[in-house]
Order: sequence, then C-alpha cells, then structure tokens
Amino acid sequence: MEVTYQLDFAQELKKCVRCGKCRTSCPVFHELRGESASPRGRLALVKALQTGDLEPSEELADRLYTCLLCKTCAVDCPSGVISDEIFVAAREYLAEALGQPLMQRALLRGFLTRPGLHSSASSLMRLYQKSGAAAVLDKTHLIEHLPEKAEAAARLLPDVAGRPGRKRVREVTPAQGEKKYRVSYFLGCATNLLYPQVAEDTVEVLSRNGCEVVTVDDVKCCGMPHLAYGDVDTARELARENLRALADAGSDYVISDCASCSATLGETYQHLFDPGTPEQARAKELADTVYDVSRFLVEVTGIEPGEHQVEATVTYHDPCHLSRAQKVTEQPREVLRAVPGVEFREMAEADRCCGSAGSFSVMHHDISAKILERKIDNVEATQSEVVATSCPTCTMQLSFGLRERGSKADVVHPVQLLARSYRGK
Ligand code: SF4
Ligand code: SF4
Repeated sequence: MEVTYQLDFAQELKKCVRCGKCRTSCPVFHELRGESASPRGRLALVKALQTGDLEPSEELADRLYTCLLCKTCAVDCPSGVISDEIFVAAREYLAEALGQPLMQRALLRGFLTRPGLHSSASSLMRLYQKSGAAAVLDKTHLIEHLPEKAEAAARLLPDVAGRPGRKRVREVTPAQGEKKYRVSYFLGCATNLLYPQVAEDTVEVLSRNGCEVVTVDDVKCCGMPHLAYGDVDTARELARENLRALADAGSDYVISDCASCSATLGETYQHLFDPGTPEQARAKELADTVYDVSRFLVEVTGIEPGEHQVEATVTYHDPCHLSRAQKVTEQPREVLRAVPGVEFREMAEADRCCGSAGSFSVMHHDISAKILERKIDNVEATQSEVVATSCPTCTMQLSFGLRERGSKADVVHPVQLLARSYRGK
C-alpha cells in the first residue's frame, strides 16, 4: 500500500491492541453504532486494505470518510495510535485507486487552489442571497427539493458579506504604539470569504498589541480540505507555495485566526515532504513560528486591555484543530476573560466536536446534525448571549444549529470581542 503522506503505516497499525477505548469517545460511533463506524473498526478496515485482504471499493471509502478527523480517538488511545492520520493516508491511497469525482476534483484543484476566483464566488453567493432567491427557496420549502447536499449547503451558508477579507485589510498595517514584532497574517479561505469581519478584527487586535501586520497576498489555501479528501499531491503543491510566500514575507511570526489553517501550517506540512529534504526543513522552521492568534496574544505579546465595556455572557467552543491538534485551550478563554464586561460561562463538553469538520456537515448532513444537537444543548444550558470559537467552519455549524433552534445567540471569534472593547461597538 503506497502513500506519499509521511507515515509508517505498518508500524502505526501494529500499535492498536484492539482494546476499544476509542469507541467510547468517538462522536460518529455514538450516533451510528456498529463496529465499522468506530475508530477501531476503521483501523481494522485499513489493516485489511494494507494486507490485501480487502480491495479498494466505494463502500470501504464510505466507511473511511464517515469520520470527522476530530482526533478524539487519537488523543484518548492508551497505545498512542494516531488513527486520524492513518485515515488521511488511507484516503490518499483510496483516492489514487478509485479516482476523485469530477465535482470534487474541480472544487479542490480548480477552485481552492485559485484565490483569484474566491472574490467572484463571494459575489455570486451574495447575489443568490440578496436577490431573494435564497429566501424564496426557504419560504416556499422548494429548498427541500434541491439535491440533498445542495440543500444542506444552502442551509449552512451564512450571509455572505459584500467584500472578502482580503479587500478589507491593508497589505501592511502598522503597529499602534511601539512596534514589538512584524507578523504575517495568514488569511484563510473561509475567513476571507465567509467571515471577513474576523480578518479585520484580527488585524486590528494584532496592531493594537504592538504588531506590524503583513497580510501576505500570495498565499493559497492551507491544503486542509485537500488532505481530508486524500488529494495529498495538491496539498503538497499548496504547502510549497505557502512556504515560499511566508518565507518571502520575512516576519517574526505567522498568525492565523483559523484553527485548521494553524494546525495545517504548524504541524501537517512536516508530514508532506520526505525527511531530510530542504522542504521538510522549511516546514519545520515554519512550525516554530506559527501561532493561533489567541495563543500569540497570551504567550507572546500580552493582551492590551480595551477601554470599553462589552457587556455579554459568553461561552466557548473548542475547535478540534485547536484543542486536540495544538493543545490550545486556555488561551482563547484568557482572551475572553481579558475583555472588560464579559462574563465567561464554561459549557459542558466544550471540546466535543460540533460535527462540522469542513465539508462533513454537507456530505454527511444527518450525522453531523445529530452531533450538533448535543453541542447546542450544551451551549443553551449556559444561557449565554454569545458563543465564541476559533474556527470559521465551527462558527458556521454553531450558527446553523442556533438558527434552527430559533436562538438569538451570536457566534464570534474571541478576538472580535477584544476588538469591540477597543472600538466601543
Ligand atoms: S486505536 Fe487505541 S484505543 Fe482504539 S482499539 Fe486501538 S489501541 Fe485501543
Ligand atoms: S477522528 Fe473522530 S470521528 Fe474519526 S474515528 Fe476518531 S473519534 Fe471518530
């Protein structure tokens, strides 16, 4: 079984002693039951693929794609089996063996690799929403007659803003007060297109905390969606381009407000290149400088307090790619507690996956919605007015879940509340 994702398959698979501990915490297994829906069962399928006892098939792919890559099983495994990475590598093998559906290929290789198209896509999505077509589809229930996945996507999509983030922030934003650091802001695709206000607030907060902020213009998608679909070749190409663009920017640190982007830049890139190559060395260098924005504020700059009160009760949802992939849990809470006027309320199971997992919420909408129900129950139990989280796809999923419940709670990034305390609105 040949894969290019750097992982010793046979060695990793051998570590599993089939104890079943991972079954208890897997959100997908909790909903579906059945051994093949459990992490242990999926590992057994990958092992059978590796030994040749199973041939690549659509059915097998379906089992391996019905997984959030949330890392819960990997973190909980007493034997240290990195199941999610094994599943990523197996998806690469299956994508090679079975080929990619045309639409998926077009999205991953045609759209996500070309940031220039994102602005046009944003205008088109906005036109769909503002023309009234979205409202008509919803009110007349015609939306229910769309193909299942199109309906899910239409329901999940937030109101698309007029201008993407990249057009709202300057290429270089000076530090306010004394300049302590020059940082590169890695503006990810989802923040850029769907939550451009987060980009503005991140840049403002960094600037206010002594950073000259370079919003690097020629970066591409981080490659996380490609890895999730087994398209490791395209992810590697994107990594090469991002490594070059970020090195050219010559900053002290690379900052991201998206948990998936910082996890990919800071950890996954190292698995994409052969050990000992200059590219892997560059990926390792990059890993030392990549920070999630909350972690950066807490560990590097310190947080300049705002002048204005932000009267709100706030709870926090831990994105999987921040809490489990980067062990960043306390720092976003510290940012929230530093905002004057905020009353922080911890929710139960704050680090349980919300069911989003990029496109999982579209491709496996029913399972995703069930996982989301429990998360929204936990949010509502805190009776908070605001839910903060550090990932745009979690934001989209939580907003969808709250809308469906008729809740008025707002979903924001932690730095947005800090930015409000600076601006007073
Ligand atoms: S992956 Fe880990 S927790 Fe799960 S069955 Fe194997 S050894 Fe046990
Ligand atoms: S990564 Fe998450 S969804 Fe996938 S098998 Fe592990 S616990 Fe289950």
